Amino acid sequence: MSHHEFSGVTVELTVGDITAQPDADAVVNAANAQLRTGGGVAGAIHRAAGPGLADECAPLAPISPGQAVITGAHGLPNRHVIHCLGPVYGSDEPSAELLASCYRTALRLADEADLGVVAFPAISTGVFGYPVRDAAAVALRTVARAAPDLTSVSTVRFVLFDQRALDAHQAALADVSGDA
Ligand code: ADP
Repeated sequence: MSHHEFSGVTVELTVGDITAQPDADAVVNAANAQLRTGGGVAGAIHRAAGPGLADECAPLAPISPGQAVITGAHGLPNRHVIHCLGPVYGSDEPSAELLASCYRTALRLADEADLGVVAFPAISTGVFGYPVRDAAAVALRTVARAAPDLTSVSTVRFVLFDQRALDAHQAALADVSGDA
């Protein structure tokens, strides 16, 4: 696991499963517009949370690219799920700005809910086709820029699914921490 601190917020990078982060106050869902179950992260989160999550999500849908909403975590071992709709790469534009908005909005919602530890997957890098190196650069830059405004969030964990995604985020973290 890699660590770096930005303005009192610890950023951690690890390989793992977003549904297996019991010490996270919130896990972030790489959601679809309808906030339903599906493949990838959304499928894993809804399966682990159980049908109560879809029931709570239904009246909150649809959401637009770059937006996020917060719900309970139901059967997951967390307090909340924050559902972000990332951009479909090459279709929802400007994709970098919409992806940054996901991270910014999720962190604001977590802070407003007085949460400490927030775990993110690599939003948009699966079915939505965002190249992982580019997405990682946007994600780390956005977290670093948001950090000074966070009062409650103390740890932002990126839970990457494979070594390639971890490597991309490690490179992006090194770039951003070199700038800071
Ligand atoms: P999107 O539709 O936003 O692209 P996906 O769920 O298809 O979202 O994938 C986002 C990223 O999350 C991909 O890099 C994928 O490999 C990864 N991923 C899939 N399942 C999990 C999981 N259970 N935990 C963490 N990451 C996951």
